[in-house]
Amino acid sequence: MTDLHDARITIDLDALAANHAALRARAGGAELAPALKADGYGLGAAEVADRLWAEGARSFYVARLAEGVALRRALGDREATIYVLDGATPGSGDTLQGADLVPVLNSLPQIEAWNAQARSGRLKAALHVDTGMNRLGLRPEEVKVLVGATDRLKRLDLDLVISHLACADEPAHPLNTRQLALFEEVAALLPHARRSLANSAGLFLGEAYRFDQARPGIGLYGGGPEGYPHPEIRAVATVEAPILQVRVTPRGESIGYGARFVATDTMRVAILAAGYADGVPRASWPNGQVWFDGAPRPLLGRVSMDLMAVDVTDCDAARPGAMVELFGPNMLLDNAARAAGTNAYELLTRLTLRATRRYVGLRGGQA
Ligand SMILES: *Cc1c(COP(=O)(O)O)cnc(C)c1O
Repeated sequence: MTDLHDARITIDLDALAANHAALRARAGGAELAPALKADGYGLGAAEVADRLWAEGARSFYVARLAEGVALRRALGDREATIYVLDGATPGSGDTLQGADLVPVLNSLPQIEAWNAQARSGRLKAALHVDTGMNRLGLRPEEVKVLVGATDRLKRLDLDLVISHLACADEPAHPLNTRQLALFEEVAALLPHARRSLANSAGLFLGEAYRFDQARPGIGLYGGGPEGYPHPEIRAVATVEAPILQVRVTPRGESIGYGARFVATDTMRVAILAAGYADGVPRASWPNGQVWFDGAPRPLLGRVSMDLMAVDVTDCDAARPGAMVELFGPNMLLDNAARAAGTNAYELLTRLTLRATRRYVGLRGGQA
């Protein structure tokens, strides 16, 4: 049973659509292919895809095979292209093909496997070229070998070549322009493939990074391109937790595990029904704040598994059942994440409030 007064996450699908429009403006004529991995960054891949489809998105990225299969099922008969970033992993061929998923091929063995999977027909594929992240993808010299051995590609409809930026959130970082130049050089070896380089932050680096397709994730979900709130990006997720109890803590007494916080004065303290088991980072204290009754309120003492304490001294509105914003339109995602020593991505994807997800704004439907 879902208690109305449990901690909850509210997802504003209209704000999602507004962010999609803002990023589309940044993308010029390039296609936006949203990243829906990790269940749409914790916000619900099916619901997010539904609305983004209604906003015109026709291609999506997931990381895992299982995410691709689930997204295909959620999209039903809508003819979306679903790219799987893990690529053609061992044993995945029939499942990829059965769910009409396009693997992003990351290595020569993956290319071989997908080419073999095609048997007598042809299969669509994307190619991941590594230009400096040193994570997934072929090295540029491997691409040169590949294009010289056309039989390796003969059953593949290589529709897209992608690379991923390591430092797009630091516009002045020299690796950005190095990756851009290397990407242009390598993509030129595959002149018939469309090109995709930018994630959300990449769309803020300038027109040169747009190419044919961009793959935004965090910008759609409310994170700014440089880890700070950005005026073009709206809050999408609001996480709130109810007050369980309001108490007075006398000067000199401590609050929470380890007795690490000691009240320097008599304080009114609200105990919230949320903790690290719900995805509130334990490291939110000592720098974290929450939003209540029109103002930021500091955390007091360590975040526990199920509980956290907040300073509500001089705040009459604090009473059991009142909801406190952990992040959302007032306590912005990037700021809450930074206070906890993490980033917007980790904060969103670690939330464990799935049972109490609510959606507001227009749904996508079978547009
Ligand atoms: C996650 C991911 C993206 C989206 O990145 P954001 O920073 O969330 O916009 C794009 N491309 C690849 C390869 C990714 O793994």
